[in-house]
Amino acid sequence: MDPITDTSSTENVLPVKTDFIREIIDGDNASGRYSRRVHTRFPPEPNGYLHIGHAKSICLNFGIAKDYDGLCNLRFDDTNPCKEDVEYIDSIKTDVKWLGFDWGDREYYASDYFEKLYEFAETLIRKGKAYVCDLTADQIRQYRGTLTEPGKESPYRSRSVEENLDLFRRMRAGEYPDGSRVLRAKIDMSSGNLNLRDPVMYRILRASHPRTGTTWCIYPMYDWAHGQSDSIEKITHSICTLEFEDHRPLYDWFVKELGLHHPRQIEFARLNLTYTVLSKRKLLELVKGGYVKGWDDPRMPTLSGLRRRGYTPESIRDFAQMIGVTKSNSIVDLAALDYCLRQDLNKRAPRVMGVLRPLKVVIDNYPDGQTEELDCVNNPEKPEMGKRKVPFSRVIYIEQDDFREVPPPKFFRLSPGREVRLRYAYFIKCVSLVKDPQTGEVTEIHCTYDPATRGGDSPDGRKVKATLHWVSAAHAIPAEVRLYDNLFSQPDPENVPEGHDYKSTMNPKSLEILNPCPLEPSLVSTTAGDLFQFERLGYFCVDKDSTPARPVFNRTVTLQDSWAKIAKTQQKK
Ligand code: ATP
Ligand code: MG
Repeated sequence: MDPITDTSSTENVLPVKTDFIREIIDGDNASGRYSRRVHTRFPPEPNGYLHIGHAKSICLNFGIAKDYDGLCNLRFDDTNPCKEDVEYIDSIKTDVKWLGFDWGDREYYASDYFEKLYEFAETLIRKGKAYVCDLTADQIRQYRGTLTEPGKESPYRSRSVEENLDLFRRMRAGEYPDGSRVLRAKIDMSSGNLNLRDPVMYRILRASHPRTGTTWCIYPMYDWAHGQSDSIEKITHSICTLEFEDHRPLYDWFVKELGLHHPRQIEFARLNLTYTVLSKRKLLELVKGGYVKGWDDPRMPTLSGLRRRGYTPESIRDFAQMIGVTKSNSIVDLAALDYCLRQDLNKRAPRVMGVLRPLKVVIDNYPDGQTEELDCVNNPEKPEMGKRKVPFSRVIYIEQDDFREVPPPKFFRLSPGREVRLRYAYFIKCVSLVKDPQTGEVTEIHCTYDPATRGGDSPDGRKVKATLHWVSAAHAIPAEVRLYDNLFSQPDPENVPEGHDYKSTMNPKSLEILNPCPLEPSLVSTTAGDLFQFERLGYFCVDKDSTPARPVFNRTVTLQDSWAKIAKTQQKK
């Protein structure tokens, strides 16, 4: 079965909303600032896998390009060779494509511009706007001053253009040791904006770069590379997160001094999610430290983790649209993402039956050895998804939770003497039970069925208060099912007492493995990524570890379980 066939469409189900960024673009289009051209970019640093926060930025940048008939580039901001890896580049491309976006042939790398950036740097030196500085990193920090104190000028600030050009060329030629000199912009050491206090543009670093190898031993700093890369690509609107607001004057200073095409930088609030950390550095730590089983661990907020868990690109795009973009930082409830996911899966995931914690039920009056094929609806929301046959026989499994020897108040499922409906099958009534003599645990229950209720309808209008899912024991496929909970046990994982870090708030019960879980036989051949609704239990996705001999399912998300809610409130009382 391939329930999720159509992932190519980027149509959002929610109406297009406007936002402050689109208003700015409308303004630019009205004034003709960029000749009504709209060209954005998504600029990941290839130093980790993309996460749901990046998805917000991807949807925004590619979404704007689409809405305005413009273009969006994919640009790798690969200026820090120590942390970058081809594995990350490949994963980023996979993830952006999976989300449903296409950068065409515009796959760019900041490293493609290293030569150009070098020339721009010489231009600034010639204009007397950049100088080689021999202060150490520590000294530079000391000289920079603070928010309340102006900085101090470097003693190397007054070097002549000729001397600067000579030193910079020799930096490039590899004549000086790592960290011994930097190139700095000559702006204003007393500026109220620390970013304008002669920021470093180049450092000496002998590190092999994934793309340029050992060609370079000087590397441009982010602020220097980023804006000029935007300008080279003729980007019109350079959208970034709020922490770059204070960098905008520097962004503008560089392009202005160089007389280049001047993109407009616009900042928006990054996505924060409850129960989640969204920082590549921390996610890398979780992976490297073995706290999770890799970047695509289904508990991770990475796009590869969400994909493996069963989140669809549509649900993530809907989520991005639902939360919108603003200028003020906030924390979005993880439930909002799950809401979008359920909305999407409800429409497309076929229903099937599987039992997570099996309890054996013997139907005493059902003929031994008989099997019936019962009609089950694949998706009540979508009749066109048709029906399937599910075998029924004398011994079935139901969920342990669906039986109580002594039913608590408001528990309407099976208990001794009570009748319930088996979904699409029959009414059954519990007549006796078998207990483990040692533990007293109920190991098996015996029921009778009413042949007149075939299909789950009672001919005499008799009512039952519960409908249970079930699987025929003789036909069951035993599967491993992995249930997930939040990776962190508090909504704000980074809010920890002194001396602790976010890892101390990790949820020790974020993964529960159930095995074997009997599933209906229609699930005999599935492919990793296939999604189903297990009736009453949630949405489940076939894991990449799945084999025909041992199917493995991840629970993507639960359904809203009304009984679980009642039970919880009863517990509290
Ligand atoms: P992190 O803080 O996770 O390390 P980053 O900002 O260093 O992320 P980049 O690879 O530089 O990661 O990000 C690429 C783009 O994605 C940038 O434009 C960045 O602003 C954006 N982005 C990163 N995190 C978020 C987020 N949480 N919400 C929205 N956009 C984000
Ligand atoms: Mg960054």
